[in-house]
Amino acid sequence: MTPAQKTASDATAARVQFGAGIRLTIASEVARLGAARALILTTPGRSDVAKEIAAALGTAAVGTFSKAQMHTPVAVTLEALDYLETCAADCLIAIGGGSTTGLSKALAYRTDLPQIIIPTTYAGSEATPILGQTEGGVKTTLSDPKVLPEVILYDAELVVTLPVALTVTSGLNAMAHAAEALYAPNRNAGSDALAVQGLAAFVKGLPQVLADTTNLRAREGTLRGAWACGTVLGQVGMGLHHKLCHTLGGSFDLPHADTHAIILPHAIAYNARSAAALLAPICELLGGDNAGLALYTFAKSLGAPRALRDLGLKETDLDHATMLATSKPYPNPHPVTAPDIRALLQAAWAGDAPEV
Ligand code: NAD
Repeated sequence: MTPAQKTASDATAARVQFGAGIRLTIASEVARLGAARALILTTPGRSDVAKEIAAALGTAAVGTFSKAQMHTPVAVTLEALDYLETCAADCLIAIGGGSTTGLSKALAYRTDLPQIIIPTTYAGSEATPILGQTEGGVKTTLSDPKVLPEVILYDAELVVTLPVALTVTSGLNAMAHAAEALYAPNRNAGSDALAVQGLAAFVKGLPQVLADTTNLRAREGTLRGAWACGTVLGQVGMGLHHKLCHTLGGSFDLPHADTHAIILPHAIAYNARSAAALLAPICELLGGDNAGLALYTFAKSLGAPRALRDLGLKETDLDHATMLATSKPYPNPHPVTAPDIRALLQAAWAGDAPEV
């Protein structure tokens, strides 16, 4: 085992750093891990920032793999694994959104290499030991300490370039982790506090960021929200909302953040039928007396997408999606029945307000 490697039992809470420009301390973070040969990962659209990280690392950058894809296809992971072996990398640096983090986690799962994640969206994957992977049109999820990144560098300068539409949907994606944490069967006082902290950060920060996308202070506030929402996602179980998004993303290849943004008000309104008291913090932050409707109004005010049909989902897919999302039981505050989920999906497909 090289000094940079770890075993599953060594996994500890990540080192989390915030700061504008903090990405440029990357060389010292690599050295701190006892590593010397970093493989940089990103998506094709983020290769400019990957180049900047490579330049900051100098000879410690031994390769860049820029083909990360949404929903972590296993075929891409295996290609990256071959490249990693050719480079003889001893640590991973992911700079990008949840797709890049997913690739890093998939490699860490297979190699036990340490990871430094530099998030450029609000997805929150960097703070969880969860890995979702897609193969043969089916997305499966595992949780393993090997997957939890060692270091997270939150740099507000990197989210300034996040397009407005993705800023909104990615923020709502993060809020979804916190909203479902409020009624998780294994929630506790700590997870509740973290969830409210994350929700409050986005309720305050998203309008500020939309008013001025270059406001670094507001961007950092939303990144702190992403950390809180991602951390709580790793701590407690998720319910209907994540099940539906997982199904729509993995089996119908819908874009992750947009899908979360559309489904969130519907799933929360559905569960408010049985868990209104637990969801009260959302009404306190956003106003109104139904958490799902409050989220719908908030998302609409930010210009978020509202209809699954606008993402390319066909109405004829709704029966199959219902079947996939209801075939196995899972904990959820309101009973999950196929007719009810079919009705929820119909409303989300059409872009209607959620049924309460
Ligand atoms: P993404 O990483 O696919 O990014 C979306 C697009 O935005 C990409 O084209 C990317 O290049 C671009 N982009 C990212 N940051 C940018 C920036 N700052 N400026 C300009 N362009 C930028 O999308 P995502 O929503 O962050 O991640 C989705 C993936 O993350 C899904 O596969 C999802 O399953 C996974 N995820 C996993 C967990 C977990 O805990 N395992 C949690 C949340 C999300």
